[in-house]
Amino acid sequence: MPYVVALTGGIGSGKSTIANIFAKFNITIIDSDVIAYEIVKPGSFALKEIIKRYGCSMLTEHGSLSRSSLRERIFQYNEERYWLNNLLHPIINIKTQELKKTAKSPYILWVVPLLIEQRIQYQANRILVVNVRESVQLKRTQTRDNVKLTQVEKIIAIQATPNQRMAFADDIINNTGTIQNTFLQVIKLHKFYIKLAKIKRG
Ligand code: ADP
Repeated sequence: MPYVVALTGGIGSGKSTIANIFAKFNITIIDSDVIAYEIVKPGSFALKEIIKRYGCSMLTEHGSLSRSSLRERIFQYNEERYWLNNLLHPIINIKTQELKKTAKSPYILWVVPLLIEQRIQYQANRILVVNVRESVQLKRTQTRDNVKLTQVEKIIAIQATPNQRMAFADDIINNTGTIQNTFLQVIKLHKFYIKLAKIKRG
């Protein structure tokens, strides 16, 4: 198994942006959000289970999962969120392990927004936390997703707090500043991770 660096942080903190910078150095990115999208594709086991539970109103006119309908449903009821997590997480986990095994780069960047919430820290060799001032996080997410501030606040409220994430951080990127500033932090970490991966390989 290659050396695994888990990248985590709240919504809109800059995980995708940072992953794209690591990708420029030819580092394999495993993104749990991408996997989560793939496993509910039309015809998938997970989508069939979702339809069984909630009916066809969970589908768009093209037959794919309507994320907004599902989101509405699971935000209303904790029980439903647990049900969905129990369905999706084991499938995501299996897929993630498969991808980790076949990766070729010196280390892997595993982008996993809910690392702390799901208590899967042990699956990484190192934990990299993106930190951003909350006002910046709110503004960037609102602009990116074109949603109301209250919607972003609701999502942040059910995620781990910055302090909870920090408790597990081996490394931190502060993404409150410019992309250029973040780029410089990534270069340093990349060099460091190459060294750590080499030590692990022995
Ligand atoms: P996440 O993947 O953590 O949800 P993103 O990487 O998508 O966050 O970043 C959220 C939004 O903020 C995106 O629109 C992105 O382009 C923008 N963004 C990220 N980092 C910066 C930065 N340092 N300066 C300006 N905009 C940024």
